[in-house]
Amino acid sequence: MKLPDYSRCVELNQLLEAMGVKKIPSVPALPPDHFKREVVKTYTREELDPKDVAFDNLLKEGAIPVDIEDITLLPDELLELNGRKVCAYIRDQKGRVDFYNKISNYKYHLCNCSTIQGMKNIGREHRYLTTQRSDGFFEVHNLTFTRYKKGIARMELCKNCIESMEKKEFISHLSI
Ligand SMILES: [Zn+2]
Repeated sequence: MKLPDYSRCVELNQLLEAMGVKKIPSVPALPPDHFKREVVKTYTREELDPKDVAFDNLLKEGAIPVDIEDITLLPDELLELNGRKVCAYIRDQKGRVDFYNKISNYKYHLCNCSTIQGMKNIGREHRYLTTQRSDGFFEVHNLTFTRYKKGIARMELCKNCIESMEKKEFISHLSI
């Protein structure tokens, strides 16, 4: 870039003369400088308890047997196991189980519904398993055979659970 030659500027020379400046000292060259850009990288990582992670995986991929007392809070409330919302079902089934079409006429539960409460009262709660499996299938043992058969089947949500959820307004009366 070519700068203008101010030494020939009359106004500037008059001003310098009025200020008593005889000679403009030369400015030494600036030392070279290196600019550094500081980039701050931040990582956030939560320390997860390995036992908790293993428990979560087990719940999501399989099922855990429970005492109903461990998953029920108040009547009609959603079922919970160690702070996790779960669904409960009976794995060992003697009803109509069709592994070929992957269906069972048993129901699964999400709430402390009247069926669950009834089971608790007659002491059959040990038959339930809890899961967080999200593909809609449940691991089922068909006990109608002499040697039980293992498989997976879809089940429907218990009607009493729907009632509980309506009571608690978890779902709208009109949506079912
Ligand atoms: Zn239910």
